[in-house]
Amino acid sequence: MVCRGWPRGSTGPTYRGRSTTPGYLGRVTPWQWSFADQLGPHFALPGHRVLLIESTAALDRRRYHRQKLHLILSALRHRAAELGSAGTLIRARTYTEALEKLGEPVVVHEPTSMAADAFVRRLHDRGRINEIVPTPGFTLSRQDFADWAGSRPRLRMEEFYRWQRHRLEVLLDGDDPVGGRWSYDTENREPPPKSATLDVPPPFWPEEDDIDAQVRSDLDRAVADDDLELLGADGPRLFAATRAEAEQALTTFISDRLPLFGRYEDAMLADDWAMAHSLLSVPMNLGLLDPLEVVEAAVDAYERGRAPLAAVEGFVRQVIGWREFVWQCYWHFGPDYRQRNHFDASTPLPDWFAELAGDRVEAACLSDALTGLRDRGWLHHIQRLMVLGNWAIQRGYQPDQLTEWFQTAFVDGYDWVMPVNIVGMSQHADGGAMATKPYLSGGAYINTMSDYCGGCRYDPKKRTGPTACPFTAGYWTFMDTQADKLAGNPRMRRPLQGRLRLTDLSQVVAQERARGAAAP
Ligand code: SF4
Repeated sequence: MVCRGWPRGSTGPTYRGRSTTPGYLGRVTPWQWSFADQLGPHFALPGHRVLLIESTAALDRRRYHRQKLHLILSALRHRAAELGSAGTLIRARTYTEALEKLGEPVVVHEPTSMAADAFVRRLHDRGRINEIVPTPGFTLSRQDFADWAGSRPRLRMEEFYRWQRHRLEVLLDGDDPVGGRWSYDTENREPPPKSATLDVPPPFWPEEDDIDAQVRSDLDRAVADDDLELLGADGPRLFAATRAEAEQALTTFISDRLPLFGRYEDAMLADDWAMAHSLLSVPMNLGLLDPLEVVEAAVDAYERGRAPLAAVEGFVRQVIGWREFVWQCYWHFGPDYRQRNHFDASTPLPDWFAELAGDRVEAACLSDALTGLRDRGWLHHIQRLMVLGNWAIQRGYQPDQLTEWFQTAFVDGYDWVMPVNIVGMSQHADGGAMATKPYLSGGAYINTMSDYCGGCRYDPKKRTGPTACPFTAGYWTFMDTQADKLAGNPRMRRPLQGRLRLTDLSQVVAQERARGAAAP
């Protein structure tokens, strides 16, 4: 991709606050630089003006989903408009150029990627950054996590989550969990109802405004001028990009949708892409919501009798459990983690998969996941884990490449989010550093947890022949080809033994080898 800077004709700041000259207001008001994922009020440092930077180099460095870039630009420009004279948004090729334009040192919160962290530390050494302060975007400091992790040979989310519940005093009755159990996973794994959609009120949908129209126009122009190459389709902005929208999204979820969230958390419906999910990962990862305010709102709904404990516990688990665990593990495991490749998976992502060409795929579950990702830049976690990730591990997709794809294709994907989710949980490429087994299944699981299979040309019960389900055949093929590496894992003993009872195993393996990288 050739990056020449966009939109063309840019002359500098899009929004500019009042003069930055020392002496304005009678004294120098210090600057705080906020990255595009640090936009909420909990990031605001008292007595500081806010610097926002629209760096074309940061935005066109990778091939992002169109709707992801729209969201980031919309969020940045809305924040600049809200700040008015209390902030400025500088448009420049690089962050360094923007800081030079500003001409004053800044304070910055710890950024969310290792690359950005190293960058701001270099700027600090050169005097361009006065101070790097801890991020309020998560509930736990890196040092506190390091103390917790200590010399544990393996990090397990469940232990971390319980520790977080204690530490933050969430859903506790003395030292015990409210309701007597730490987990309500068993209640939160129901198959979908027979209806085509969940009977649940819709999520909050934002209304686009002039800023979104300008973002759309800028992206159109950059693409037309070959300054930017994007993935996926354009579409109406579906996710909160301002603090006010994020608050409305949170309120709507808590009051209307949380009660049904837990029960169908792991289910999939072809005609209901949002189901009862919160969609809050997007504004949370833009830094528009404080994770603790999100958890407090959910716990308050439980305490007022407006949401069942199982649903609230499942949601709290996502926020102060999994989200925080993934964040901390990103730093804990370090930069080499993405390259881990326990199963020596080396298949490049095929074009139809990488390009989100769901219309070239006949397998109903996979087709819908790719099409949904193309059209919205977002899928709920079971489609991510048990359709896309499941397919990728069975087919031996290269984990680092897959991680990059998830990171750029999903509107809530960031450097810190995807390595542990993909390399660790989904692909088990770390060999079990943070999960006890690979997450994969045959078509039977997808058939139980979704309504896809009834309308699919394949049959989830068949392993061979023209109607053999590629997930079922792929599952047994993976078990067979990776048997040596799975043998030491007690949780894989049963499926490994099960494969030996298949009389057609060699036929299944040969069939899936012949399929190669073709779309199923
Ligand atoms: Fe997916 Fe197989 Fe079910 Fe088709 S039959 S929807 S490929 S699991």
